[in-house]
Amino acid sequence: MAVLRLDQVTVERDRAKATGSDPVPDGTHVWLDVPGGTFEWNHFTVTGGRLVPDQGTTPVPLDTRWRHWSIWSPTTLTVPNGGFQRVAGAFGVAADKACWPLPSRFERRAGASVLVLPNVLPMRLRTFDVSRGGSTAKAGDLSSGRRFYDQLLVELVEDAQPTPTDAALKLPWQVWRVPASGTTPAETVLASDPGPNLQQTELAPQPDLGAAPFLPTADPLKTITCVWFRDFLNVGGGPANAQAFPVLRTVRTTTNPNGTTAALLVDAGKHPHNGQKFKLPPGPVVLMRSERPLPSTNSFAHELAHCLTHDPGLGRRVIEAVGSKQAMLGVLAALGVEGPPPAGKRPGETLYDELYPTDLHGGGPSNLMSRSGGTELLPWQVAVIRAARELEP
Ligand SMILES: [Zn+2]
Repeated sequence: MAVLRLDQVTVERDRAKATGSDPVPDGTHVWLDVPGGTFEWNHFTVTGGRLVPDQGTTPVPLDTRWRHWSIWSPTTLTVPNGGFQRVAGAFGVAADKACWPLPSRFERRAGASVLVLPNVLPMRLRTFDVSRGGSTAKAGDLSSGRRFYDQLLVELVEDAQPTPTDAALKLPWQVWRVPASGTTPAETVLASDPGPNLQQTELAPQPDLGAAPFLPTADPLKTITCVWFRDFLNVGGGPANAQAFPVLRTVRTTTNPNGTTAALLVDAGKHPHNGQKFKLPPGPVVLMRSERPLPSTNSFAHELAHCLTHDPGLGRRVIEAVGSKQAMLGVLAALGVEGPPPAGKRPGETLYDELYPTDLHGGGPSNLMSRSGGTELLPWQVAVIRAARELEP
């Protein structure tokens, strides 16, 4: 265990939307909290590249195995103690905006410990509007998405693409539900012309989101492909606003005895498999409906968060059905924001229980990841989103 006095540690700050870190200007205010605690903040002022604690206070020795929750600001701020809450003006954003506390990290360099504070991360979106007919849904979604992710110091960077031709898209697409029969599970089928017989949908041409014009030219795992439709997701179970296909960190393919793949598997393309027939790109995908049949809050931010938390919104059933719980625990424990696990819990298990509840969507009725969306986030959701591969500079 490596325990240090934080006032003896050099402090740096990540570059905004770029790799590398820089010294922090003298006079910068920094607040730190121990992971797993109750968000009691220790206040420091940066002097000569080190953290100097408030006069008269003695910072407790802190464990470098964990990431510390942090806030920084060029000016002093009111940072309320107790509970995980947004702080107005944190990280140098406008005083009338508020950000969630974010995890910092330790780096070892030449035998010394450097505390690296968080900065702006990019979220690259490759966007397509195929809704035809001048819908304003895409602009509204991007605007509300920006407002939401500003609170996480994440900046949406849009790479808007021209509308592909109908021939390239095989438009119009529609999603239909093929009911389960016998040993064949129900399937969601995205088809151009399903006709009166749902079985015909399987004969319809299926779009390939892994081919031009959809496939990103840069690293596809650092780009979220987003497509807006007008008529889409008219699934048998009822209308839906949107669907996300995150890239899961673990892969296992299983096949039914009759040779079909069962619903709710993680497929060889590293995406959750909902029985969809259309081809997905190697990276994450969000499909949005322009005309929403259901009311929801932060719908676009919710779908993006499915991608960033590697959670298709199907609960732990999916993860455990494919034997991936142990691997997920490893990913979550490696984040280092949980602190020592409580008695009876394995490392990462507290986060796992909060992030992947048994119901399809979790976090409570006001949480972003509740079924109808919301405005709140759990600390672990913030940590997992900030650590997402998709947001790497
Ligand atoms: Zn969802």
